[in-house]
Amino acid sequence: MDINLLIETAKKARENAYTPYSNYKVGCALLTKSEKIFSGCNIENDEIMSICAERVAFTKAISEGEKDFECILVLGGKEELQYTSPCGYCRQFMSEFCNKDFEIYMYYDNDKMDKKTLGELLPDSFRL
Ligand SMILES: [Zn+2]
Repeated sequence: MDINLLIETAKKARENAYTPYSNYKVGCALLTKSEKIFSGCNIENDEIMSICAERVAFTKAISEGEKDFECILVLGGKEELQYTSPCGYCRQFMSEFCNKDFEIYMYYDNDKMDKKTLGELLPDSFRL
């Protein structure tokens, strides 16, 4: 896995974030087990239907037939990058497609990075 490629992909995606309300721009890069990368950015709406970068990347990948995921890298902030981790809704969404070992990288503040597993971020997901 080329972590630098994921960082650059997420940064480029972040440039496309549509955030007229919060100005909090997020980009991400989702790596599949088949080694494809799907990017995502957050897209706000003045109603309640904003969508996070992570779910954009997942829905792009799934709509292209991908269902097996290796890891995701997330970065975001208003101006400078600040620590940004997936929201609860995205964590639950990921748990539909990823096991507890799925790795989530959070890149921030000029080359700082944190890595957590989905199991750490969502130890007890909702299941029917
Ligand atoms: Zn989210």
